[in-house]
Amino acid sequence: MPRSYWVETLGCPKNQVDSEKLVGTLVADGLVAAAGPDTADLVVVNTCAFIEDARQESIDTVLALSDARQRGAELVVTGCMAERYGDELAAALPEVDNVAGFGVPVSLGPTRKLPEFDLLNLPRPAATAPWAYVKVAEGCDRACGFCAIPSFRGPQRSRSVESILAEVDQLGTREIVLIAQDLAAFGRDQGQGERQIVPLVNAVASRVDRVRLLYLYPSDLTDPLIDAICSSGVPYFDLSLQHVSRPLMRRMRRWGDGERFGDRIGAIRAREPDAAFRSNFIVGYPGETEDDHDALLRFVEEAQLDWCGFFSYSREDGTYAADLDGVVAPQLMAERLDELTQLQDAITAHRRSELIGRTIEVLVDEPGVGRTHREAPEIDGIVTVPEHLATGSFHTLVVTDSLGPDLAAALPEPAGLLG
Ligand code: SF4
Repeated sequence: MPRSYWVETLGCPKNQVDSEKLVGTLVADGLVAAAGPDTADLVVVNTCAFIEDARQESIDTVLALSDARQRGAELVVTGCMAERYGDELAAALPEVDNVAGFGVPVSLGPTRKLPEFDLLNLPRPAATAPWAYVKVAEGCDRACGFCAIPSFRGPQRSRSVESILAEVDQLGTREIVLIAQDLAAFGRDQGQGERQIVPLVNAVASRVDRVRLLYLYPSDLTDPLIDAICSSGVPYFDLSLQHVSRPLMRRMRRWGDGERFGDRIGAIRAREPDAAFRSNFIVGYPGETEDDHDALLRFVEEAQLDWCGFFSYSREDGTYAADLDGVVAPQLMAERLDELTQLQDAITAHRRSELIGRTIEVLVDEPGVGRTHREAPEIDGIVTVPEHLATGSFHTLVVTDSLGPDLAAALPEPAGLLG
């Protein structure tokens, strides 16, 4: 009877890809998927350590699965918590059998371990949805004041374009979502002095119906990259802006400000009126003043982005910001977060309602659910579509309604019926 496994994934899409690759190695080694964590011989938790809330969720999940697992089952913790806290975590969680950082062997029972492997370049099972994330690099060379990721994911390591294209072909999906910590810097670490993101986007776009990019650092949004994204047919821009106040951006050790971001977004909209925009912002970074907050409110109001995520600043050991003065009180941080979220929810709902009556091109992700170029999987709204449309197929539909972040769409009336 083959051993069975259960892999629980927390955190970001990059962790999801890591889990899929881990599953690929376990299956290649003869293990089979368990029906649930309570029937598995091997339970693996792929953790997230980005901010305090994520760490707490990781610990809670490990403890819950430790209680749920069957007698004699092995519990392995991997992912960012394992990489960042290693032995400390193992000491704090005696119920865990193995704390395995990236590429560290996940055990296959008391006597056997998988050989050392490089998660980044491992093969993946075929996709189960019409879209898939493809992780094109690991690590990051930047030093944003609030971020600990470079300290445990290391410097940027880009994959070869050949290995990425082989994975795209093997996944066999209609849409590929390219991801990395610092996507637009792809290839810069490969000694060619120049980024390779544009040729990569073009190469992937020639293989699949849609290529989408997440996590674009704004200073790397060059004209050639904007051209490549627009001509791929998916004018979707996920810009990691984080704030807009110039003095605060300097304290964050990040490039840019609201004026430059606004000019870039305006230039893209002039070139592609149907372009869609997403961004993330940190609220309550040490030193954030009322003026800084007002500047962000004004930017959000003026930029009219389709989607925004707002996150409370989380103090991270070992980061530049950890020892900065000007700590923002949690109550004030919560008030600012709430104000921004309410403002953006209204903007998103309004932009969605403006699409009523428009003709859209939809990829059906599952029965009754689809997405246009405006919606990334899992993080943006959806389009509800007629149930009979086949999963994995594209359809031209008409938007009939909107509800907050979501749209409803139907097949266009046959020409004759419109009289
Ligand atoms: S770009 Fe900045 S925020 Fe993103 S992973 Fe790198 S250091 Fe962290």
